[in-house]
Amino acid sequence: MKISTNLSLTFSLLTGMIFITFGILVYLLSSNHRKEVFRDRLEDRVIVTEKLFLERDSFNDEELETIRNEFLHTLPDETEEVVEIIEGQPPLFSIEYPATVVDQINTPDFFDFEDGRRQGKGRVFQVEGKNYLILVTAIDQVGLQNLRFLRNIMIILGFVSLPILFLGSFFTSKRALTPINKKIAKANLISASNLHQRLNVYNPKDELGTMAIAFNNLLDRLEDAFEAQNSFIRNASHEIRNPLTAIMGEAEFAVSKTRTQEEYIRSLEVIIEEAEMLNSTVNNLLNLSKVDTEQGTTQKELFSFDDWFEEIKAAYDFINPSNQIEATYAFERLPEVCMVYGNKNLLKTAILNLLDNACKYSENQKVEVTISKIDPFCCVLIKDAGIGILEEDLEKIKSPFYRGDNARKVKGTGIGLSLTCKIVELHEGEIEINSKIDEGTQILVKLPLIMAL
Ligand code: ADP
Repeated sequence: MKISTNLSLTFSLLTGMIFITFGILVYLLSSNHRKEVFRDRLEDRVIVTEKLFLERDSFNDEELETIRNEFLHTLPDETEEVVEIIEGQPPLFSIEYPATVVDQINTPDFFDFEDGRRQGKGRVFQVEGKNYLILVTAIDQVGLQNLRFLRNIMIILGFVSLPILFLGSFFTSKRALTPINKKIAKANLISASNLHQRLNVYNPKDELGTMAIAFNNLLDRLEDAFEAQNSFIRNASHEIRNPLTAIMGEAEFAVSKTRTQEEYIRSLEVIIEEAEMLNSTVNNLLNLSKVDTEQGTTQKELFSFDDWFEEIKAAYDFINPSNQIEATYAFERLPEVCMVYGNKNLLKTAILNLLDNACKYSENQKVEVTISKIDPFCCVLIKDAGIGILEEDLEKIKSPFYRGDNARKVKGTGIGLSLTCKIVELHEGEIEINSKIDEGTQILVKLPLIMAL
């Protein structure tokens, strides 16, 4: 069901229910009030009847009839009756009354009774030691007629106003929802090919404006993500195509004519070098996507960071035997003194990348690594005296495939640092890069320290 139909139905039902409840209440209160007013009039008739009964001996029959005609029978269909109550005998009524009348004879004051539309009032009084019961009944024709009229008016008003209410609320809600429908139509036209389009914001303070702003912000983020993905694919293809072209070129060059053994060896060395580059790019890409998809599901373990770092350093010494990395620890290396909870493989990739960059961009000059505990982090500071990073590149180098202009002469894929940042982020850690061009770079990795159990 559409919101406009739903809204108008709910509104009309609610208003209809309020109207019906209100109408029933008014009807019941009016009916009660009518009865009360008529009871008062019946009470007056009882008093007059009683007086006339007491004075009946003072008048002859003709006078009595005149008085009766003048003071009694003034209410519509009025009946009055005075009967003597004799102990042990049922009263001899000339008219039929409801059974409740006899039950109320012992009531000390006036009592009321009803017989369909007819209302009655009675009272017992004593004269010369005898008990008499006066009963006066009448039909409140005017009152009942007014009540009927009120009821009919309410029913007609109900039948007429409910459809009007429904139609009124339907058109109002439709009008109120028109801008939303327009926005939906516009949003439906936005696709990957025109992701730059935005919804119009007429009043940024009302609900529609807020919704349009939120939607536009979502589109901004989507557009950025879309663009990032596109440039990622462009860069990845480029990084893969370059070594492939070099490999193919070198192979074609080698087979184009008969070469000397040295020339073949040289060609194969170039092919191996480019293939290694290709391998490293593909591995890094795979790692990058692994880190992205494994968020939250990475297997982690608790380990002593300083001992583990020794293993990493040994592994790097094997990869790059001419490195001049010097590691120092700013704390006494006792068992379980610097515990970290993380995925050893991912962290190995991250730290190896940083060590390799430090050595690579400083042409294997001295690299100082300081491991310290700065509560609540285990910190690894990697300091080199290499080419440094331009200030405007400091943030950009964290994006995949971005390489500083001054780094072009050094071989690289531009993925390592972004992968490192992702891994550190995955471990709820932080990474800070400080660098001065031609002076060197300092990279500080902070990983949450787990207190000794
Ligand atoms: P790669 O080293 O393969 O180019 P990275 O993602 O590891 O890719 O690094 C991205 C860029 O950051 C590098 O191209 C370089 O410009 C810069 N960079 C990273 N580490 C250093 C460093 N220690 N010294 C100078 N520049 C660095």
